[in-house]
This record gives sequence, structure tokens and C-alpha cells, in this order.
Amino acid sequence: MTSDKSIKKKNSYTLDLTSLLPFKILLSEKENSLELIRGVMSGKINLDSIKLEIEKFFPILEEDVIFMIDNSQKVTLEYSANAHVSTKDVEILVQEVISKELPLTLFNRSTKKPMTYITRNLLGIPLIGSLYFGVIDRGTNLLQIRAITGCPLNCPFCSVDEGPASQTKIRDFIVDTDYLVDTYNQVVSEKLLKNTEAHLDGQGEPMSYPYLVELVQKLNDNPATNVVSIQTNGWFLEEKLIDELAEVNLSRINLSINTLNTQMGKKLSGRGDYPLEKILELAEYIANSNISLLLAPLWIPGVNDDDIEEIIKFSLKINSNGDKYPTLGIQNYLLHNQGRNMKGIKQKSFSDFNKQLREFEKRLGGKDLVLKPYMFNNYKTEMIQNPMKVNEIIDAKVVLFGRKENEIFAIAKNRLIHVINADNASIGKRIKVRIIRNRHNIFFAKPV
Ligand code: SF4
Repeated sequence: MTSDKSIKKKNSYTLDLTSLLPFKILLSEKENSLELIRGVMSGKINLDSIKLEIEKFFPILEEDVIFMIDNSQKVTLEYSANAHVSTKDVEILVQEVISKELPLTLFNRSTKKPMTYITRNLLGIPLIGSLYFGVIDRGTNLLQIRAITGCPLNCPFCSVDEGPASQTKIRDFIVDTDYLVDTYNQVVSEKLLKNTEAHLDGQGEPMSYPYLVELVQKLNDNPATNVVSIQTNGWFLEEKLIDELAEVNLSRINLSINTLNTQMGKKLSGRGDYPLEKILELAEYIANSNISLLLAPLWIPGVNDDDIEEIIKFSLKINSNGDKYPTLGIQNYLLHNQGRNMKGIKQKSFSDFNKQLREFEKRLGGKDLVLKPYMFNNYKTEMIQNPMKVNEIIDAKVVLFGRKENEIFAIAKNRLIHVINADNASIGKRIKVRIIRNRHNIFFAKPV
């Protein structure tokens, strides 16, 4: 039995976890866990795993570690010990436990799918080779930067079957900012680029990346970066975020708005809570900021024909790009065998599509509706080295489960390879695969 005297002898300490950790923290007594949230990303840490580690490394008993939450939602860790235990040392240990455990439960709150955090140290995974994340070089001065997968919308025409209602995507990925920027810097230097456009896009919504401002800032730190641009559906836009992005010199936002009509907006986004009015207000807010705005509607023949005319008029009204860039990039509806297609809608040929855009230019006064790369200062360049050929048999190491059933990722020759029909592969094992597709250093293979 512990005497009152020994209890009094114990020193008490408090760690303010809310200030310490770069997350919003929720304490759940029912689940005996801390939930850590940053934007769409969340993960849970079991309280016992922190307590047990503290007991293992310090003269502190597990029952003397208590997690508390106050009225202002501040979460603290309180502990008592007979000897002096530096809060700095406990802080470091808590951070270590979190960085070990968080990836195991990471979750994308907008898609409700498990999420894998890709870091430099994760099994040597390179950031070139995948369609889903990393850096893509298609032989121009524009590099595609993909930091996160997953999208909160369920557009019925989604070419990559994204969103919470996706029938094919079972997992999301997020990439560490520094690792992504280092890969970008390497590609820029391998290509000897001078005027680079770093274009944030992806299979999903790039603006859901919780470290977006930091990423834009770091891409701009490369002296060869001329433009940093981003695609977005507008779901995560806020005035505060636009201000922060303007501050770090984001050059352009390509905003997909497919209608100016609220009901049509709900139908085309697949969400009853799609905030079209708010997104339109924010489009005007961008147009009045230092960031250029490109409206990028998808023209779905027979569905939003009238809306396209309205969007052209809207773009003429809010145009603030001057002659720097076009303000409108109307997209042609295309059928996709890996994505979602709208019933009964046929795609237009590009010649018909361009002809109709020319007619719009004449009738409504929009200019440069048929977009060309030179309008964005994009031009062809050498590609980075492409180390594997189609039909080549490669010895590769399995490193990750993919985004679809039976898909895994393997690595070879410093490239990531999507391996399909890989039912029996297990992480860490070596397998032989045949490359079946290789375009722009994006590799698909099958086991042999
Ligand atoms: S916003 Fe884009 S990625 Fe998201 S569901 Fe719609 S089309 Fe797909």
C-alpha cells in the first residue's frame, strides 16, 4: 500500500499536447484514444501505448499518467513521479510513439478510406513511376506534382472513379512535403529546366493536401520555378487559404465549375451539399487577388450546354488575368473505361468541340477558348531517363498495396511500378514482373 507521505513526495508535470502537436486533438475516453486531425487526414493513438512507453523508459507508473481535456478543448498529459523527469524527454517520447503509431491508423476523412503516408524512409519508395502520387514528367517544362489522392465529390462523369462512392478505389496516399519537393528539385535539375511550371493535380482533389501552403512555398524556393499552379474543384477553398496561397506566390488556380445553377451543381458533383454559391463567391475573390484564375468547366453535351454559355459570360465578368493567361479552359467530355460515364452521353470529336468553341468566341466575345500550351508558356523538353521497356521482365520488390483490389506497388531501377493481377504478392517479397505499359515513366506490369 502506498503511504500518504510517498504520494506527497511525487512531483507532478503537465504536457500541453494541443500546443505540442501540429494536429487538432480529440480525446475519447470511450475508445481510450487520442484522435489527431489535420485537414482530411486523421489517425488514432491508443492511450495505453503512450502510457506503457512512458513506464518503460522513465520511473513513472502507467497509472500515474493521465490524459485530460478542459473546457477550451485543450488536451494535456499529466504525470507524476518520485524523481525529476524532464518534460522535454517525455515530449520526445510521446512524439516518437505518435510517429510510429499514426501511420497504422491513418484515414482520409473525406473519402472514408485508409491512407498511407509516403515518406523518404518508407521502404525506399521512389516518387516517380506512379499515376497516383509523386512527380510526373511528360516531356515539357510543366511537371505534375501529386501530393494526395482522394476527392470529396462523386461527380457522375469522374474519369478516374474518385470520391467516397468510388467502386474501385480502396486506399488513399499522401506524400511527405519535403520528400516530394526533393524529387521535384531532382527532376528539374536532371532536365536542366529554367522556367518550370509546378502543377499540382492528381487523381482526386489536390487542395485536400493538409500541407498545401508549405508545399507551394517550397516549390517556389527552387529558382527554376516560374509558375506554381493548382487544379481544384473548389470544395476546400476558403478566403483564408486563398490569402495564404497568395502570400506564398501561388500563380494560378484552375477551378472546375460546371454550372452556375445550384440544382445542376448538386447533380454534377454527386453531392446534395455542394456549395456552388460559396465557390462562385470565392472565384471572384481569387480573381481579385494576386492569383490568376482559370475556370475549367467540363462540357457534357446535352447536359450543361446552357451552363457553358453562362460560365463564359461569368468568366468575362470576373476576368482579372489581363493578357497573362486565358481565363477559361473548357474541357471536352470524354468516355473512360476506368472511370464513371454518364448514361447515354456521347463524346464530341475534338474538331467539332473546337469548332463550337470558335463559335462561342465570335458570339460571346470570349477569347482564346481553344487552349494551346504556348498560352501558358509551356513547351517541349527532353524527358528524364526512362529505365524500363515494355515487355521487359524485371525483378522487383513489393512495397505497398495499391489503390485497387489486386493491385500492388513494386520498385525497381528507382521507379515505382503498378503491378496488376497481383493477388498473392506480399510486402517485402521479390517478384518477377513483365512491363505491360510505360508512358512518361509511368509503369504498369503483371506478375510472370
Ligand atoms: S472533382 Fe474531379 S476527381 Fe473529384 S469526383 Fe469530380 S471529377 Fe472526380
